[in-house]
Amino acid sequence: MQSANIVDKLPNHSTKQYGKRDVTELKFIAVHHSATEGGDPFSFARYHIETNNWPGMGYHYVIMPDGFTYKTNNITTVSFHVKDNNPVAVGICLVGNFDIANPTQEQYNSLAELCRLLLQEYPWLKIKGHKDLQEQRTCPGKNFDFLYLHTLLRNRPTYEDLEKENAELKERLRQIKKIAEV
Ligand SMILES: [Zn+2]
Repeated sequence: MQSANIVDKLPNHSTKQYGKRDVTELKFIAVHHSATEGGDPFSFARYHIETNNWPGMGYHYVIMPDGFTYKTNNITTVSFHVKDNNPVAVGICLVGNFDIANPTQEQYNSLAELCRLLLQEYPWLKIKGHKDLQEQRTCPGKNFDFLYLHTLLRNRPTYEDLEKENAELKERLRQIKKIAEV
């Protein structure tokens, strides 16, 4: 996953400021689509500040169509993206309108990798769509496939999985050698 931390590079509101939280307060990863054809973290941040009059960028991460992932807020920042659930949710936005188009394979891959990293740090988090956390929302769009995301998350071997597999293979080899010696 190609990524960049641009938390300190994004614009902020001239007077307003987001609140802070402890990571133990987190409950959800909220998946969003941008509902736009294009755009990038800078254009979304400007929109959130200038049009919505928010303190800053709403999302914590933005995933571009080519899979490139931007970190756009610290996890401890209570930014705006799921209304009442803002204090307990980390917002990840995939660029695109998934009512019309589909997320790219690169976006699904990067999202799965990012979720895996977040779940390593905060294993109690549940992955939800924006629509699951705020009424009358359709985000991240009807074409976003949560089942597929979960398939990717399950199928990707972790370092621990690979180590376990390696240990099992070594043990089998040891057994075979023992039998051969007899
Ligand atoms: Zn959303």
